[in-house]
Amino acid sequence: MTRADALLALRHDLANISELDLQDDPGQLLRCSRDAYDYSPVLSPKLAGARAQLVSRPQSVAAVEQLAAACTKHGVPLTVRGAGTGNYGQCVPLEGGVVMLTTGLQRIRKFDPVTGIVTVEPGCQMSQLDQELRRHHRELRLLPSTWRSATVGGFVAGGSGGIGSIRWGFLRDPGHLLGLEVVPMTTDAHCHQLNEVEAEALNHSYGTNGIITALTLSTAPAVNWHQVCIDCMDWADAVAVLLACGRSAVSLQLATALEASVLERLPGWSGPAKGHHRLLLLVAPDGIASLKRLAAHAGADLQDLGPEDFNAGNGLRELSWNHTTLHMRASEPGWTYLQMLLPQPELPAMQALRDHWGDDLLWHLELVKQQGSVRVAALPLVRWRGAALLEQLMDDCRAHGAVVFNPHVITVEDGGLGVVDGDQVSAKQRFDPDGLMNPGKLRGWLERAQNS
Ligand SMILES: Cc1cc2nc3c(=O)[nH]c(=O)nc-3n(C[C@H](O)[C@H](O)[C@H](O)COP(=O)(O)OP(=O)(O)OC[C@H]3O[C@@H](n4cnc5c(N)ncnc54)[C@H](O)[C@@H]3O)c2cc1C
Repeated sequence: MTRADALLALRHDLANISELDLQDDPGQLLRCSRDAYDYSPVLSPKLAGARAQLVSRPQSVAAVEQLAAACTKHGVPLTVRGAGTGNYGQCVPLEGGVVMLTTGLQRIRKFDPVTGIVTVEPGCQMSQLDQELRRHHRELRLLPSTWRSATVGGFVAGGSGGIGSIRWGFLRDPGHLLGLEVVPMTTDAHCHQLNEVEAEALNHSYGTNGIITALTLSTAPAVNWHQVCIDCMDWADAVAVLLACGRSAVSLQLATALEASVLERLPGWSGPAKGHHRLLLLVAPDGIASLKRLAAHAGADLQDLGPEDFNAGNGLRELSWNHTTLHMRASEPGWTYLQMLLPQPELPAMQALRDHWGDDLLWHLELVKQQGSVRVAALPLVRWRGAALLEQLMDDCRAHGAVVFNPHVITVEDGGLGVVDGDQVSAKQRFDPDGLMNPGKLRGWLERAQNS
């Protein structure tokens, strides 16, 4: 049967299920076939032609089950999409088929006021969930800088960390994701409840091994985070103060460092750029005086901009993580970026790379907790001079001891440590035995298929 025939048969089977909200308007098919992969000039030409053939926005878990069963019966690929803000083409349907929007499923199902544990449907926006949690004096532990639009399901299936990573590490660290509800791609699809251990294999799997219909997450007591900036004349001082802040006993939710030449191309929400390098911090109110002392010790200036205003959309959060790249590209197209964990000590490697690459590599750092230790992650801005030079730059970073997480590739593994996770592949065998979910994104599955 051709794909066209399979789609016709699928539509025939689903025609009377209004809860599936089927759409095939060409504009909608195009919109739902793209995400923020255009940050990568390597991915852009590779993904531009991929197109969904049908879009569905199920309104209930029962409708998701019917959609999954029908796609399996007719051999039609299915790619799940939240807000579509991923940077690596995570929700681009490489082989066409159905794109399933999760935004029809956005209920907060359960909140335990004693433990703070929340169970939520995948299409709930992170901003909405955070707002609801704050009513109960709780907050999300980890958020991407796209938290205003990103969905909870998209963050867990496609993201890794961000705001909060200095305190709470990364999404795949044990203790964040406590359970999942998942609908398999089988002809008798019925949702399964997964405990914390089973859920691990679907965390950061790009929706290749099961449709997530609910997530159970831990949360944190809410803090009235203050926005604090520290300006330093010298980059070495900026890095030293950043590390001193991270190693102090002060509670931080964000610790970003921007070189002066990055800062001057960003919106002026953190105050005017005066040729200084700047740290952007979210700090618990009881720690501001201590950070003032640390800054003064290095001859740096600290500014307390006051508590965050969540209504405004122009906070320090929106200058951090990949929002730095967003603003840089808006001010001057032609920049792309890399992601890496810097070696320790950080400065010699940064200096050596600067000596070689000059102003084609500008530093943007984020403090993170990596396996319990404070480490420096970098999302440097890179002037695009072609794929060969980008590869050379990544090799050079590795030669200086950095662990590179390549944002210019489409598979789960190649954007991570490069190794196949057998548990992710086994979960795909269990929940998507015909390999129909987001095809082409799990290298371990493709290699397994090639070897059998
Ligand atoms: C400016 C900018 C800044 C960013 N900053 C960060 C950051 O700080 N940290 C970070 O980690 N990422 C960041 N990202 C990437 C992205 O925004 C986040 O990972 C975000 O959480 C993705 O959510 P989404 O709803 O847009 O997911 P989508 O892009 O829609 O989906 C992401 C992946 O999850 C899968 N998926 C979605 N829902 C489900 C489901 N219910 N079941 C199974 N699979 C599912 C999709 O198939 C896809 O593979 C940034 C991107 C941009 C453009």
